[in-house]
Amino acid sequence: MQGRCLCGAVRYRIRGEPYHVTHCHCLSCRLASGAPFVTWFTVRELELEWRGEVRHYRSSMGVDRGFCPRCGTTLSYRHEASPDEIDLTAATLENPELVAPEDHTWTQDMLSWIRMLPLLAGHRRHRQYDRSA
Ligand SMILES: [Zn+2]
Ligand SMILES: [Zn+2]
Repeated sequence: MQGRCLCGAVRYRIRGEPYHVTHCHCLSCRLASGAPFVTWFTVRELELEWRGEVRHYRSSMGVDRGFCPRCGTTLSYRHEASPDEIDLTAATLENPELVAPEDHTWTQDMLSWIRMLPLLAGHRRHRQYDRSA
């Protein structure tokens, strides 16, 4: 499996199976990504290979978040309590369909309108394109 940031300056490759696939709703993930929640999966650090420079931000005690210094894509999360493991953003996988989220974490921080998602109208592309329909 492989993945990359938006601009392609950072790429990664994984050997081995991803596990602990979850939608994290915590406030830190929200602010770090600019998205209402972040979908993560975990891999063994030894089974991950980076290409390109990842910059790191210590978002809280023992937490290190990796991102592309050029385009800002949120890429990784590490906690010093689990130094052998690293979390990667599922959406940066070349094929995110290969991992299936198992649950939601930090639901105490979940935005109320996330529960509305399945109820909202959908547009195949931009909303304006549907006006002629
Ligand atoms: Zn980038
Ligand atoms: Zn989080």
